[in-house]
Amino acid sequence: MHKDLETILFNEEQLAEMVTRLGREITRDYAGEEIYAVGILKGAVLFYADLVRAIDLPVTLDFMQLSSYGSGTDSSGDVQILLDLAKSVAGRNILLVEDIVDSGLSMHYLMENFRHRKAKSVKLCSLLSKPSRRKVAVQLDYCGAEVPDAFLVGYGLDYDQKYRNLPYLGVLKPEVYEK
Ligand code: 5GP
Ligand code: MG
Ligand code: MG
Repeated sequence: MHKDLETILFNEEQLAEMVTRLGREITRDYAGEEIYAVGILKGAVLFYADLVRAIDLPVTLDFMQLSSYGSGTDSSGDVQILLDLAKSVAGRNILLVEDIVDSGLSMHYLMENFRHRKAKSVKLCSLLSKPSRRKVAVQLDYCGAEVPDAFLVGYGLDYDQKYRNLPYLGVLKPEVYEK
């Protein structure tokens, strides 16, 4: 385990099981359809790469990036689109793929935004959810696991752009971001 972590929450095997289960649910629910999978940069990238391989249907890959927390650990609630989709969403089944829903502000903003585009459907798949931190309700159509209120890193999730490449997901020692 990395020295800056307090504990490992999900190891590689547990993450793989989560992804397999989500891929199976999505494959079942969208049977006969095509999916336009929208990965939210950068946190969801590792999860996204594994998830699309666990979906046994035609999938088109695209990405969006929203304004981030900077180097802090709390959301400002002031969301902006930094990078938009390459193609129009009209008539497509949009599956948003996110790393973690915390306050819910980012995904709430994005779901509202998608309601104004003419997508055929819009659903949300998040690897993780922190229900105790929610400020606004968000419908999570697919969720890997609910997690406690701690600052997590690894498997795509960063602190100050670090730790994304850890193959497992764990709790960052508070002393790392409190200093
Ligand atoms: P929300 O808008 O739901 O508050 O924030 C969602 C975003 O905040 C996530 O996509 C993620 O980038 C970041 N975030 C929320 N909780 C954590 C966490 O525990 N660790 C990390 N690294 N990022 C988090
Ligand atoms: Mg994210
Ligand atoms: Mg981040």
